[in-house]
Amino acid sequence: MINERRVVETFLELAQIDSPSGDEQALAERVAEKLRALGARTQIDALFNVSAFLPGRGVKQNAKPLFLNAHTDHVAPARGIKPVVAGGQIASDGTTVLGADDLAGVVAILEGVAALVESDKKFVPLEIVFTAQEELGLVGAKGLDLKNFTAKEGVVLDSGGPVGAIVLASPTHNLLDITIRGKASHSARPEGSVNALKIAADALAKTKVGRLDRDSTANFGIVRAGQARNVVPDKVEIVGEVRSRQARKLERHTRAIKQVFDKTARGTGAKMEFRVTRAYNRYEFKKSERIVQRVAKALKQIGCPPRYEMTMGGSDANVWNAKGIKTVVVSVGYEQIHTTSEYLPIAELVKAAE
Ligand SMILES: [Zn+2]
Repeated sequence: MINERRVVETFLELAQIDSPSGDEQALAERVAEKLRALGARTQIDALFNVSAFLPGRGVKQNAKPLFLNAHTDHVAPARGIKPVVAGGQIASDGTTVLGADDLAGVVAILEGVAALVESDKKFVPLEIVFTAQEELGLVGAKGLDLKNFTAKEGVVLDSGGPVGAIVLASPTHNLLDITIRGKASHSARPEGSVNALKIAADALAKTKVGRLDRDSTANFGIVRAGQARNVVPDKVEIVGEVRSRQARKLERHTRAIKQVFDKTARGTGAKMEFRVTRAYNRYEFKKSERIVQRVAKALKQIGCPPRYEMTMGGSDANVWNAKGIKTVVVSVGYEQIHTTSEYLPIAELVKAAE
């Protein structure tokens, strides 16, 4: 049985342990301690990822383990979180995030496992990972050594909205870092200069951003250029991205943007560097996929009809899927994440634990 009081107490306790991205050690040690108390064998690696292995009960020796994951880091402002319980919800005091992204996932796993262990139910072996630095670009997941893991299917508890969502598809994400180098001069003697900012602006004006098609988006988020009003800028750095749930569309959109920049810079005397880095790779599941069916069945059993979603965001699931563990993401109830108005309905947290 899920113990609602314990769920809330655990959440309140863990929320008060500072765990901004890159500084998850204290929270990692505390959750590892809780997992050991439930009978799991635990490890913490140099990135502060917590791995835990819990033997199954009442199942065959060779029963396939289930992989469970949530992340321990929170986005800023995340130091000194003071969770407040009111009206059936938990929120921060308004000066920080709540950290329910993804403490809700962490607490749901801890409570779910505790309830299983206390029950007389059968369960398969569990391989649990609480990752660090998810918010910095899935850093913990990418760095985790999976050699001790044998699970082939898993669930990531890290999506917003009421319990019941199953994420079926997520995009591939390309990071664009573009540098244009021109030639500086005094603005009053522009002869021979090459204005890198003007070239960048011309290229950006010809580039499509926002939603490109059903599966794809593009954005330019940062432009850095210039020294002074009266100096022709000789260097521009542009930081952008392209995402698509379809590999071929991603290639096409990325190439189209590069061609615009190439063409615009050509013949101007400027040099361009166009760097594309893969942040993570896409995945897509059919509803008939075994892990999707398992999760849907579990949701129906607790009276939550599954909702199937496609996301334009990434999560640790992109890394696990790329590493060969078929992993879907499910919602755990948190709302308005990455803001100081973040909140978590307690009833949703209890359902997630179930
Ligand atoms: Zn998250």
